[in-house]
Amino acid sequence: MSFSSQNFSPEIVRALTECGYEKLTPIQKQAIPHARRGHDILANAQTGTGKTAAFALPIIQQICNNPKPRSRFNVRALILAPTRELAAQIAKNIEDYTKYVSINVAAIYGGTKMSSQEKKLEQGLDILVATPGRLLEHLELKNVSLANLEFLVFDEADRMLDMGFITDIRAIMSDIRSQPQTMLFSATFSSQMNKLSTEILRKPKRISVDRENATADTVSHVVYPVDEDRKRELLSELIGKKNWQQVLVFVNYKETANMLVEELKLDGIKTVLCHGDKAQSARRRALDEFKEGKARVMVATEVAARGLDIQGLPHVVNYDMPFLAEDYVHRIGRTGRAGQKGHAVSFVSREEELTLVQVETLIGQRIHRVQLTGYEPASRDALLQKMQTKSAFKDRKGRTNNPTDQSAAERRVRLRQAIKNKAKITTMKK
Ligand code: AMP
Repeated sequence: MSFSSQNFSPEIVRALTECGYEKLTPIQKQAIPHARRGHDILANAQTGTGKTAAFALPIIQQICNNPKPRSRFNVRALILAPTRELAAQIAKNIEDYTKYVSINVAAIYGGTKMSSQEKKLEQGLDILVATPGRLLEHLELKNVSLANLEFLVFDEADRMLDMGFITDIRAIMSDIRSQPQTMLFSATFSSQMNKLSTEILRKPKRISVDRENATADTVSHVVYPVDEDRKRELLSELIGKKNWQQVLVFVNYKETANMLVEELKLDGIKTVLCHGDKAQSARRRALDEFKEGKARVMVATEVAARGLDIQGLPHVVNYDMPFLAEDYVHRIGRTGRAGQKGHAVSFVSREEELTLVQVETLIGQRIHRVQLTGYEPASRDALLQKMQTKSAFKDRKGRTNNPTDQSAAERRVRLRQAIKNKAKITTMKK
């Protein structure tokens, strides 16, 4: 099904063609006709399915069909997103789709100056993309008015609830006096989500894309059983031996992310870091370097990487299994996007086996295990004994990713020495 068959203006179809969009994705096929008729929508769709265009294009077309002079502080369409990166990404997509029509869009989110955002809001906007917290700040300062809102979208609504935005969302809703057409997109549903959707949606059309379409069709899943303390080596080895060129690595903790970046650098693998302690500008720089291929690996925590759109990403690694099985679906949503082939790799220690079973139940398929020789998990008894007797830091001899890098080798020796010294000091203190 083509975009021109959906009665989009030639200017919009032209922009979409330039984006490389020819046919509608399944979520677009389902959502666009209902949204064009003005219905509220409750959509179950993961990142990577083309959901942004599914909600944005009907809004853009309806605004084009009914142009209005911009009035100060006024917003016609509001799209709420959980993270800065996702908000920026949505706004960027909308800019691409509206290249040949006269629609203005802005993204506002925390971590950047209020003043530059104030200026954008003051001129009046057709489409505003915002994170809930920052929008609320602007509402309180009367920098923006939602009184005449015509369209409202909640993207990754489950994430917004997970991140505790429910109070902010309620406060924002209390500022909306009109009855906007409302669309809610979420990868997962909970009782809290059902409650919110009944509060904000009026007779919604319910749509859902098959899980197979979102993940299994285009993504191959592989699990490497491995002990926790061998994961670092396994990652370097796979990247080097399999010649992976663009790898997004998920970890559960910022500390793990920091450590892993240092370790990969020691192995001569250009790596960037994306976690919540990093300034907004540093996260953006890291993402740009990763997208442009200047860095081969980006190590990220869940929250920081939420909703990132990285075109054609071939490999996603779960260095740590996520705490919630649903997050597996979110994480691997970064690969195998819109029909491209993707590769989802998970490192699973014995302690993480239960999560793996939960993930398999959720995605409805058993994931292929690959036991790499030399990385077999130790038996439970051996593991216990090792924990009692040995340092957690392994001898890293024999790593071959960058054998010629003399300075890396020297730095590695220094790092090992520093770790030993630290261990000595800790023992002495005891
Ligand atoms: P999203 O789920 O909105 O993050 O979209 C995932 C990726 O698919 C993005 O890179 C989009 O640019 C791309 N995309 C969305 N719709 C289409 C389409 N109809 N054809 C090709 N690519 C698309």
